[in-house]
Amino acid sequence: MAAQTVASTTNSTPASGSASAADSVNAVDLGPAAALSCRECGHRVPLGPVFACEECFGPLEIAYDFSGYDTEELRKRIEAGPANIWRYAPLLPVPADVADKPNINPGWTKLVKADNLARELGVDAGKLFVKDDSGNPTHSFKDRVVAQALEAARAFGFTTLSCSSTGNLAGAVGAAAARAGFRSCVFIPHDLEQGKVVMAAVYGGELVGIEGNYDDVNRFCSELIGDPAGEGWGFVNVNLRPYYAEGSKTLAYEICEQLGWRLPDQLVVPIASGSQLTKIDKGLKELIQLGLVEDKPYKIFGAQAEGCSPVSVAYKAGHDVVRPQKPDTIAKSLAIGNPADGPYVLDIARRTGGAVEDVNDDQVVDAIKLLARTEGIFAETAGGVTVGVAKKLIESGLLDPTLTTVVLNTGDGLKTLDAVASDTGLTATIRPNLDSFHEAGLGS
Ligand SMILES: *Cc1c(COP(=O)(O)O)cnc(C)c1O
Repeated sequence: MAAQTVASTTNSTPASGSASAADSVNAVDLGPAAALSCRECGHRVPLGPVFACEECFGPLEIAYDFSGYDTEELRKRIEAGPANIWRYAPLLPVPADVADKPNINPGWTKLVKADNLARELGVDAGKLFVKDDSGNPTHSFKDRVVAQALEAARAFGFTTLSCSSTGNLAGAVGAAAARAGFRSCVFIPHDLEQGKVVMAAVYGGELVGIEGNYDDVNRFCSELIGDPAGEGWGFVNVNLRPYYAEGSKTLAYEICEQLGWRLPDQLVVPIASGSQLTKIDKGLKELIQLGLVEDKPYKIFGAQAEGCSPVSVAYKAGHDVVRPQKPDTIAKSLAIGNPADGPYVLDIARRTGGAVEDVNDDQVVDAIKLLARTEGIFAETAGGVTVGVAKKLIESGLLDPTLTTVVLNTGDGLKTLDAVASDTGLTATIRPNLDSFHEAGLGS
């Protein structure tokens, strides 16, 4: 893929002459975001709707200027902030008045102390937590990342929000666009779960099914960006990806704040593109750097479904490169066969002393049911993947059951009912009388 400069992305002020889009938006105010920096070679460019380094084609990410923050003042400001991700606005690429703008205000989801699940898994009491992101406005973690991309889209003058999606992102973009008054046109594989399709369509934007898998959808979107038909479009996870990705940091911030400004010892994080995992690591490092948490080691474990496990396979083989796979799993929200952040995930898992593991579809279903019957949390398949992987890692001794561990549930089981519907249903059907009730053996 060629480096994209996406010239003339602003409708009102088309980039003139040799000025790149990045130059024309140099003056945007995105809070502490100072520049875009290449994750491979460190080359810096001004903030703009670009995502690949002009020098080496490496991925760009946000570089911040946090100098001037006093730790205790910052902590107070965060704690006095709203009960959503905007409490962390001083650490995000968003304008200072972001909380006043129309958006769906995701975040500040529950961190559930999961003692019942801990008992089942052999983890010490009080040590196991589930960060339950099914509580977001569109019932997945994707609202966090879309919220950042939306602010970048506003700053750069885009009028249409778009994305390639494995399902949850399409719904999050649809909802955010509806509330903010953007047009949305999103692209998904045509054969997703009905819950995801309806959830993406109900907000009134355009929803296009593509005959192919997610990787085909993503390739198509990259083509559309380079075409006049895609002019003025902000693809949240393509040309706005550096901004989008930062939304995942809020998971790290919330987990630490909810633990009483403490780092967990171990985290189990799902991997689709791997973006979320890498930015959770970035968020934790920032909290240490800012003095908001005490510096100590933490381990990050990545979780995949066996039917789409390119990162896990590479991890176990000791490889640095991730070989693409053709996904075949019920965990469709994680079904990215060619994960963009795969190599960075490998690096983080190895550097922090974590690991990457996978579970098969039966284990995913068992884990969904385990979490539901122990903690009353109904996870989508991605949550089945993380809980299933946590169980497997405890059994293999890689996850220490005596340490503080956070397992992420990133989506809502109502969107993937089919995963558990086949053997989950009525216990009995009876006539409306006591005899019939007793016959069914249901009395106390
Ligand atoms: C998108 C998604 C993820 C993680 O995505 P990354 O591409 O790895 O950032 C995790 N869980 C759910 C439910 C998702 O929809």
